[in-house]
Amino acid sequence: MTIARSNGSQSPLIPDLAEVISTRPDRNTHDGREPELHPPTDEQMGQMQDAVRNILLGVGEDPEREGLLKTPKRVAEAMRFLTSGYSESLEDLVNNAIFDEGHNEMVLVRDINFFSLCEHHMLPFMGKAHVAYIPNQKVVGLSKLARIVEMYSRRLQVQERLTRQIAEAVQTILEPQGVAVVMEGVHMCMAMRGVQKPGSWTVTSAMVGVFQDEHKTREEFFNLIRHQTSFFLGSRE
Ligand SMILES: [Zn+2]
Repeated sequence: MTIARSNGSQSPLIPDLAEVISTRPDRNTHDGREPELHPPTDEQMGQMQDAVRNILLGVGEDPEREGLLKTPKRVAEAMRFLTSGYSESLEDLVNNAIFDEGHNEMVLVRDINFFSLCEHHMLPFMGKAHVAYIPNQKVVGLSKLARIVEMYSRRLQVQERLTRQIAEAVQTILEPQGVAVVMEGVHMCMAMRGVQKPGSWTVTSAMVGVFQDEHKTREEFFNLIRHQTSFFLGSRE
């Protein structure tokens, strides 16, 4: 489910289930096959820097002026960092952090900050992710849920796919009764260009298992993420 709003409201609201606007097709294939991803090389690091130099020329700048001399290198390194999720794997990430607790109540980690890059403009989108699951005996260390969000965020993404990949990852590692993921994001490609609506934000959700099948369970999840905590460390609007 995707909800996009541009009503200028300051803080994200949780989606009303009736407000479904669109679900875009996922374009994560290459002629219907798996995309041809590869580990980035040192040679390509140099090519990226040349590309940044060309972008600087393309916007009418002088890449040789003092302030821009190191920019190609900085941009290339920043891009490598911001897409470092490609070189991480789910298996390595959750290694040794799955426990058999016999716990079968909802586990929810709210307000996980995420930063990603949209694959259409390579501009940032960012916001908060809420990840819940109902275990089937197995649980995972809570910090690992945040790490899963981070790993998939540090790739070129669309928010819908990012949300779905996080839900599927939790489903894969824990085989729980269900998984729910809601992401609230602000897209710089919408805020700074295009429709230029800085107040707009996008909510996406992915529901698996009991969260998809049982209205009551889904409602409980939405109530929990709507509820404002009275105690917290760090800021929440
Ligand atoms: Zn974009």
